[in-house]
Amino acid sequence: MNADAVFRARIATWADDRPRARTLAVWRGRVVAFDDVAEELARDALVKEDFGSAALFPGFHDAHCHTTAFGLSLSELDLSTPPVSSMEELYGAVAARAAALGVDDWVVGTGYDQNKLGGRHPERHRLDEAARGRPVWLQHTSGHMCVVNSAALERIGSAVDGAIDGGSVVRDEQGEPTGLLEERAQSLVQALVLPRSLEELAEAISRAHDRYLAEGLTSVCDAGVAGGWIGQSPVEFAAYQLARESGRLKVRSTVMVSSDVLGPVSGHADDGLEGALGLPGGLRTGLGDDWLRLGPVKVFSDGSLIGRTCWMEHGFEDDPANTGYPQADPDRLRAVIVGAHRAGWQVATHAIGDAAVSFVLDCYEEALGDAPRPDHRHRIEHCGVTTPSSLARLARLGVVAVPQGRFIGEIGDGMIEALGPDRVGDAYRLASFLEAGVALPGSSDRPVVDGRPMRGIADMVTRRTGSGASFGAGEALTVEQALRAYSAGSAYAERAEGDRGSLRVGQLADFVVLEQDPRELPHGELADLRVLATGVGGALAYDGR
Ligand SMILES: [Zn+2]
Repeated sequence: MNADAVFRARIATWADDRPRARTLAVWRGRVVAFDDVAEELARDALVKEDFGSAALFPGFHDAHCHTTAFGLSLSELDLSTPPVSSMEELYGAVAARAAALGVDDWVVGTGYDQNKLGGRHPERHRLDEAARGRPVWLQHTSGHMCVVNSAALERIGSAVDGAIDGGSVVRDEQGEPTGLLEERAQSLVQALVLPRSLEELAEAISRAHDRYLAEGLTSVCDAGVAGGWIGQSPVEFAAYQLARESGRLKVRSTVMVSSDVLGPVSGHADDGLEGALGLPGGLRTGLGDDWLRLGPVKVFSDGSLIGRTCWMEHGFEDDPANTGYPQADPDRLRAVIVGAHRAGWQVATHAIGDAAVSFVLDCYEEALGDAPRPDHRHRIEHCGVTTPSSLARLARLGVVAVPQGRFIGEIGDGMIEALGPDRVGDAYRLASFLEAGVALPGSSDRPVVDGRPMRGIADMVTRRTGSGASFGAGEALTVEQALRAYSAGSAYAERAEGDRGSLRVGQLADFVVLEQDPRELPHGELADLRVLATGVGGALAYDGR
């Protein structure tokens, strides 16, 4: 047998029996040998790359990001801070974009964070002035709310006065909408601009994947498509298939479907599917191959911490009467989670507030008591505020926690204001998850924050906010723990550890080459460590040398 390719570097494998290697040989996209055997097999290999003293690791894997939204945002008006540093600058950016558009075109912006712009959301009437009659739709960096102007409200019409379960149209003292639409109320404006076409979405996936490859990402999980306020089109999964068929899917993709698209499924009495929820034909988690897989079902139980909509046991530090709210009636949420479990789904539920985390654990416990399933790997996305008792239950139930380290660096100051000093220790835990035996993947929730894995890894290690404040320093990870979370941990969270997350004989040859070994660097240099190359299936998909 001849290997197809051979790569030389300072290799870390995450395999206990061979943690380090110097040479890695690839055959048909998978690791086939190391070191002397690899050199032997590779004598006639067509591809031979020597990265010298650079460090090669299992490829980065983002367990929770929003690829279609990120790809679309690359062509929308960027209102994040930086570059936008004040509300006046935001209005200026909206005016400049509007001036370049037709008189009836939508001005679509994304990424603003009121916490960094004086504390208030953009004002409807200032947006009217800036856009000169055009409708404006500005999405908050969290994705959980947006602001529209008067022209947009006109197009929404009387629907703005209807009841919205799990969302809110914010109004001023006179009862007039301020333009701020929270959570499910975002569907009012989405109904006007969605769905996107499959071609537009496939292009967005392609643009996003080019960025991912340059950052060392070889696998990602899109955390919710096809329905709810998160979906871009009811046939969004088909956009992934189109991207795959047309050569635009460059990073291995696991795709969660929104629970909004699930419906009742039935079958033989022996199947126990009474009350179960699934896709037509019974499709569920696991369908697909090494490049494109149907992942968990995504359920939203609550909202955003910096947006003060997440479901809390006690009020926010700066808004004590507000305890947020669940994203749907709790009985309905419970039925969705239990029903999805019964239908065989791996369930990934967004929960940020401590009341939401505890409620979701109740639902998982009920589902597992009712229909036990070993190795279910149900997940809690974000797992934002986790009390000690919820931590113990996560471990006991075998639930995977999916927190985002990068939130600390980018929105950590806003989270401290919302929580106050006493609850920060429960927020975005990392080390205590590992100590309790809770599986820990690495993820960004991009485009909510910068998704570059080395940025996330740096924040998982330093736990410093943008202003330099310490954010639960006891939860800091070692560099190796953070690297492992961003590869092996994420693979486990997607039931893919047999193929990904480490470099062993037989596994997919997915890797990232970093200019230096981050374990040997001062923490201050981690965030900007250069990615030299990215390999997917043994082929160099990015070469930045
Ligand atoms: Zn998300």
